[in-house]
Amino acid sequence: MIVQQIKQAIRDIPDFPKPGIIFKDITPILKDPQLCINIVDAFAEQLKGIRIDAIAGIESRGFLFGLTLATKLGVPFVPVRKAGKLPFTIKQKAYKLEYGTATIELHTDAFEPGQHILIHDDLLATGGTALAASELIQEMGGIVAGFCFVVGLGFLNGMERIAPVCDRVVVLAGY
Ligand code: AMP
Repeated sequence: MIVQQIKQAIRDIPDFPKPGIIFKDITPILKDPQLCINIVDAFAEQLKGIRIDAIAGIESRGFLFGLTLATKLGVPFVPVRKAGKLPFTIKQKAYKLEYGTATIELHTDAFEPGQHILIHDDLLATGGTALAASELIQEMGGIVAGFCFVVGLGFLNGMERIAPVCDRVVVLAGY
């Protein structure tokens, strides 16, 4: 099963990047091509029947499976980046972190108003980043088609924060 395959591959790194955080290191997954294929196939299966016009992947680990899934589904991939990285005209959204704020950006031509955009990241923690991405997409006239994550940390209640935007949330391996 995909859940076990992902959980066996993921490496827990205690106290990274700061004390008290158990970092879920997905790099061992990337060394296993068959597991990468299985992950993208599982996303495609669980998202069947949903209109998806483009996939927005969140910097930086959301680029990995985001682009692969977009390619499999035959839809465009658009990068959601941290402030100052995108070269063309941008729209941005600031959001609160545990300490301070962060800003994410999208190119103004990332998609057309009315298009259905699937949001992807490697991991759902508090949901703050995915929520900010969904708000930015909506402010640009997009419709949130759903969210998909390889890993979800249920105890941080990210699902509760993003489900009001769109309740189609796929998490392949939940903790
Ligand atoms: P959040 O906005 O709290 O849902 O955080 C999600 C973002 O932070 C994702 O891009 C994750 O890659 C990263 N992240 C947060 N917590 C962890 C963790 N424990 N292990 C790995 N990545 C994490």
